[in-house]
Amino acid sequence: MQLNYSDEFIKAMPKADLHLHLDGSLRLSSLLEMAKVTKTQLPSYTLEGMKELVFKDKYNDLGEYLHCFQYTCDVLRDLENLERAAFELAVDNQEEGVNYIEVRFAPQLLTNPDKGIHLDQVLEAVDNGLKRAKTNYNQQDDVQNGTKPRFEYGIIACAMRMFTGAFSPYYTGIFNVMPEFEPMQVIQLAAMDMVKACVRIRDSKGIPIVGVDLAGQESGYPAGKFKEVYKYAHQHFMSKTIHAGEAYGAESVFEAITECFADRIGHGYSLFIPDMIKDDKIDDRQKYVNSLASFIADKRICIEVCLTSNLQTNPSIGSIKNHKFQDILNHRIATTLCTDNRLVSNTTMSAEYRLALDNFDISFNRLKDIVADGFKKSFFGHDYVNKRVYAKDCMNYFNEVAKKYGLMAS
Ligand SMILES: [Zn+2]
Repeated sequence: MQLNYSDEFIKAMPKADLHLHLDGSLRLSSLLEMAKVTKTQLPSYTLEGMKELVFKDKYNDLGEYLHCFQYTCDVLRDLENLERAAFELAVDNQEEGVNYIEVRFAPQLLTNPDKGIHLDQVLEAVDNGLKRAKTNYNQQDDVQNGTKPRFEYGIIACAMRMFTGAFSPYYTGIFNVMPEFEPMQVIQLAAMDMVKACVRIRDSKGIPIVGVDLAGQESGYPAGKFKEVYKYAHQHFMSKTIHAGEAYGAESVFEAITECFADRIGHGYSLFIPDMIKDDKIDDRQKYVNSLASFIADKRICIEVCLTSNLQTNPSIGSIKNHKFQDILNHRIATTLCTDNRLVSNTTMSAEYRLALDNFDISFNRLKDIVADGFKKSFFGHDYVNKRVYAKDCMNYFNEVAKKYGLMAS
């Protein structure tokens, strides 16, 4: 029987967001203010105008969706704006009952050497903003006395699949000095450059850079091209997630796991769509999809599902009922709900849970699994024993909330 989950319960239950892009999750009002500082040209300077022209509820395609990021990235090439965006993002999450966030972004897109902003400064600014929000939250009485679980966060650094420097007018890095390289080699070098810097910054400054990600256009830039980069991360105990199966077939998910050691998969939307498989060596596509689903479930690789975002970037899905989330659940794959981009997708963690609970067959125990995987599959920056204790604290609190709302016996 499907229980009736109230909005109040969804807001009150502890939640984690493991797939959350900083540059897609600004407050729109802040973006307008930040644009004044960076003198960023916007198509409108009002909330209504920006919602009509840029940040919409529906997009025609992925291109229109990605267009939003040119404005957000531009205002974030400023350390004060960056610190503020990170702080506000953590606060917005705290206010809707999210206890744990992993904030991801491509630091190379936010450098600005003219202002002395390099990778170190970008990562420090984001960490400072998140840390300030965490400290404030954890000083509350009910967190201090153990009534509510504390707030924690991690940072995930994204390498870009098609990053040649053109996306950031400022990042010069290695590009200008190596014109003899092919574009793919430049992209691979840039990704390696970033991962090495992140390991160094994590180890020397104690900034909780807990994982790496690969973002951007999948088609033409398969995960396997980045295996050396992922190997470096792997050898330095950096956790790994990859955007895969968002706009490419299920074989890209397999490649991400087997060649790049991915611990989690961002989206994995195509996992249950055999027709999206492009590899002509795969004869029986349905069989491949079933085998891969079992493999992922058995390995406990977690799929970071972003329902609203998937509907917006793949308008061909049509209705939420056509989304393959139910197949992910039915195959017992570890999965958790995420927002992807709070501003660009106009969503929140509570809205994503509402959408899932209203449209899929999710028992109370399954809901509990989805929430628990948000904590258990995190790349928590402390040691494993502490991670278990924290996940247990959060799930004990989940039980308390469920009892309060009559969903569990007291
Ligand atoms: Zn994403």
